[in-house]
Amino acid sequence: MGNLPDKIVDRFGRAHNYLRLSLTERCNLRCFYCMPPEGVQLSPPASIMTAREIGAIARAFVSLGINKIRLTGGEPLVRKDFEEIVRDLAKLPVELALTTNGILIDRYFDVLKETGLKKINISLDSLKEEKFSLITRRNYFKKVMDNIHLLLANGIIPKINVVLIKGTNEDEIIDFAELTRHLPLEIQFIEFMPFNGNKWEKKKGIYYPEIMQRLKTHYGAQEVESLASLPNDTSRNFRVKGYKGSLGMINTVSNPFCDSCNRIRLTANGRIKNCLFSQEETDLLAAFRRNENIAELILESIYSKKKTRGGIDDFSANDAAPRIKNNRSMVLIGG
Ligand code: SAM
Ligand code: SF4
Repeated sequence: MGNLPDKIVDRFGRAHNYLRLSLTERCNLRCFYCMPPEGVQLSPPASIMTAREIGAIARAFVSLGINKIRLTGGEPLVRKDFEEIVRDLAKLPVELALTTNGILIDRYFDVLKETGLKKINISLDSLKEEKFSLITRRNYFKKVMDNIHLLLANGIIPKINVVLIKGTNEDEIIDFAELTRHLPLEIQFIEFMPFNGNKWEKKKGIYYPEIMQRLKTHYGAQEVESLASLPNDTSRNFRVKGYKGSLGMINTVSNPFCDSCNRIRLTANGRIKNCLFSQEETDLLAAFRRNENIAELILESIYSKKKTRGGIDDFSANDAAPRIKNNRSMVLIGG
């Protein structure tokens, strides 16, 4: 590979050490904010990375300084060869993490335990069974809750991702906070983000001041304490005093964390997205299949990354809509 650097740095000096790797475009849920009701056009199976290709491409990233890999999707656990992929990636000198809707955790529990994959984020947008079904268009609420408790019973503490949307689940902010009273869970409230076909409007989002206001009104201002965050943390963290778990807020829309962004996304069909909102993609898999030097392609792709959100400064601006419309649905990116 010649003299390649051991760091992936963009022209704004941001070093990238974190790869979010999508294993599949498929999913066993149909969350309305993530994919349009009519579903998404899946890539032909032959253009999805095989387990062997995932391993080889991940190794190219690791040689360039990637030390954290999060498996995502679609739903990563619906991939039939998930076990083979995880066992292979677990051999790499990286922190492995997983974002999942939680439905199949019990099926892979032993594999997760054996490979030491303990950094697990589970998406759960409602604590009410009926609402869960409305949001996800499927009835797996009990399964997800059981699997959260399965992890907790075995000393694995998952983070819970909650996308807050007006008129849908904003009335559950306190219920989620209450979940942290006796359980050591980290609840991450995520701002609703715009993608192709998800009918996003800024006014449908719930933002930090409103969440804080609700918590302080309910618990009293002195009872909600801020927690320190780490350098590349994407969330602002806090806790209700005396509670076992904590709360966090990811402000991609209202206050993006682009200045310290260290993330690279690789889609299931092997394309680099250097930002969740980038318009351009780099077809790494095609280059890999042509036996080209993919390390150089990775470096070039990240070097050309825009300063903020794929160049979209304001999601509400007139010119933002067509650019958002051209972006893949989240299920096809890997959140
Ligand atoms: N299926 C897995 C899951 O649901 O956790 C992994 C893939 S999912 C695309 C990754 C994350 O993206 C989830 O936490 C989901 O809530 C989040 N997400 C999807 N669409 C979103 C949107 N429009 N705004 C904010 N977050 C979104
Ligand atoms: Fe599937 Fe996750 Fe998207 Fe829901 S958020 S549809 S579980 S990929």
